[in-house]
Amino acid sequence: MGSPRETTHEGHLLWMDVALQEARRGGETGEVPVGAVLIQDGVVLAAAHNQPIALQDPTAHAEILVLRAAGRQVGNYRFPEATLYVTLEPCVMCAGALLHARVARLVYGAADPRGGGVESVYRLLDDPRLNHRVKVVSGVRAEESQALLQEFFLARRQAPESCGLGWASAVPTYRPEQA
Ligand SMILES: [Zn+2]
Repeated sequence: MGSPRETTHEGHLLWMDVALQEARRGGETGEVPVGAVLIQDGVVLAAAHNQPIALQDPTAHAEILVLRAAGRQVGNYRFPEATLYVTLEPCVMCAGALLHARVARLVYGAADPRGGGVESVYRLLDDPRLNHRVKVVSGVRAEESQALLQEFFLARRQAPESCGLGWASAVPTYRPEQA
């Protein structure tokens, strides 16, 4: 499929679909649903989702896990021809990792107004003081990426009630035979 520069908008949508599938997988295991995939020459080098809880590792964001897996896959720690797709704007840590990895391009979905390290809070990927720039395409399938996160956090807020912790203890046990 050629170099990162030739990817069409349709191509972005398709690769983001892989990242969204990863995000859903993460959400199903109780992790914040963020997914990422690293693509080079039309091939998936690695895909991963957020796993800080499962791995007991605060650095186990989807982007970091993808870069680690891709490094093992290609036997290198730099990816100057690759594009990273991720459903949520990378944080400061992950933006830093993209710079260290010399990734050519980042495509992300939803913005992160509270912690984004690319455009929302900090702009690490085009900072002239740093020795590498990453091309950025933002807002690709942003609504779906955002909806996954909103549904996840909404479900967690409702969890205590749905488990009965909120009110069940105050409600007498219902026994049909006593009615
Ligand atoms: Zn991160």
